[in-house]
Amino acid sequence: MTSKYETVIGLEVHLQLETDTKAFCGCSTEFGKPPNSQTCPVCLGFPGSLPVLNEKAFLYSIKVALALNCKIQEIIKFDRKNYYYPDLPKNFQISQFDMPLSYDGFVDVPSADGPAKRVHIKRVHLEEDAGKLIHPVKAANSLVDFNRAGMPLLEIVTEPDINSPEAAYDYLTALKSILQYLRVSDCDMEKGSLRCDANISVRRAGEKELGVKVEVKNMNSFKWVREALSFEADRQIALVEAKERIVQETRLWDAQKLVTISMRSKEEAHDYRYFPEPDLVPFIVDKKIIEDMRKALPELPRPRADRFVKEYGLSGYDAGVLTGQVDLADYFEECAREYTNRKALANWINGDMAAEMNTRNVNILGLGVRPKDLVELLKMIDDQSVSGKTAKDVLVEMVETKKRAGEIVSSKGLSQISDKDKIEEVVRDVLARNERSVNDYKGGKRTAITFLVGQVMKQTQGKANPAMVNDMLKKHLGE
Ligand code: ADP
Ligand code: ZN
Ligand code: MG
Repeated sequence: MTSKYETVIGLEVHLQLETDTKAFCGCSTEFGKPPNSQTCPVCLGFPGSLPVLNEKAFLYSIKVALALNCKIQEIIKFDRKNYYYPDLPKNFQISQFDMPLSYDGFVDVPSADGPAKRVHIKRVHLEEDAGKLIHPVKAANSLVDFNRAGMPLLEIVTEPDINSPEAAYDYLTALKSILQYLRVSDCDMEKGSLRCDANISVRRAGEKELGVKVEVKNMNSFKWVREALSFEADRQIALVEAKERIVQETRLWDAQKLVTISMRSKEEAHDYRYFPEPDLVPFIVDKKIIEDMRKALPELPRPRADRFVKEYGLSGYDAGVLTGQVDLADYFEECAREYTNRKALANWINGDMAAEMNTRNVNILGLGVRPKDLVELLKMIDDQSVSGKTAKDVLVEMVETKKRAGEIVSSKGLSQISDKDKIEEVVRDVLARNERSVNDYKGGKRTAITFLVGQVMKQTQGKANPAMVNDMLKKHLGE
């Protein structure tokens, strides 16, 4: 069914910039404070109060625009978007309309199976957030919290050139990764610092004209964006098949029922009666400032992944995973300065460390294992003071107790046994008690040795040096 149709998706991401104060006033942006404790005449829209642009919010916006390969507008100007709603004390939002601060960019999105796919960025503009309405269950009234009113929001809008829910997911992942590298936002979807609205339409394969688009909102994870888009594509295709009309509207994703529900038919842009914000004078940014900022951009995920492959000899896959999160990439590099077996290092971080991150739902920093502590553990494996198998348990213990590897190994007596006499003693005992396997081996069944090695490991609680056990067994079996 899907091959007859093409899905067309454009995404609008709202990013809360991590500034100390709001976009146009001096109120604090700190999260989780008592309702309406972070307000002033400006963000409450008192008559006569005047907005002043937050320089940091503006520079952060330019930083993002440059990282997304956008052109920067020569004249920076703001507009009023007028609408009436209880969460908007001024009855307008300061935004940018016909002259967004940047436009015409792109993100090259790595994909698991194939070359990177380019998603074009239509515009990136700066605006202010609205307040938050709270509807307590069973209460007669709704409440409003204006702490969020006036927070700096960056809107990042793609062209409609994303062709599947999976590609939308990949784009969002790549975008978030870049935004985290820039350190301009905590990008926390649960806190609402990063939100995504998705526009989607379908058309018959090969058709030039775009279909009628539907906007989907209310997805609070990238996974839900993918699910909602997938549902919506199917719904629209079914309508086309049934020769029914697709209505341009806004729909909400219901994460319980796994469906989208109609919310309202989409307002036309001119309903907002946009006009230039008279209280903020348009200004020109010195080109030199922009060029300096371009030069000062950090190394971004894709070039960093390429460098990881070249410099550390990692696979493209490992490099991609490690550089996907800036903290993870930094962690790897800090370890790599002290530890030269980079392949093993990558395996530990992407394997056992990643498993711990998943079960605990934290990132690498949340594990609390410092780079030098991981390096200590890996060096203990290399000099055979602990077996690779035991090291896995030691790592879990490190995460749990925040103790160092050396401490755990010595206090729990986990040191690998590399003492020849000790191992020989156990080997003799195992051989004496497993005559059948010995005979199997001598009779040509070479795999019987695996069982014997296992028995020795068992008797030593996994602490015997496996290479020595192997050699010793072979010697005793007459090789
Ligand atoms: P609006 O004026 O309704 O906000 P925009 O042109 O600003 O519309 O586009 C908003 C988002 O919708 C962009 O991400 C754009 O790529 C996407 N979009 C526009 N038309 C379509 C379409 N026909 N199908 C899917 N996405 C679309
Ligand atoms: Zn304020
Ligand atoms: Mg729009």
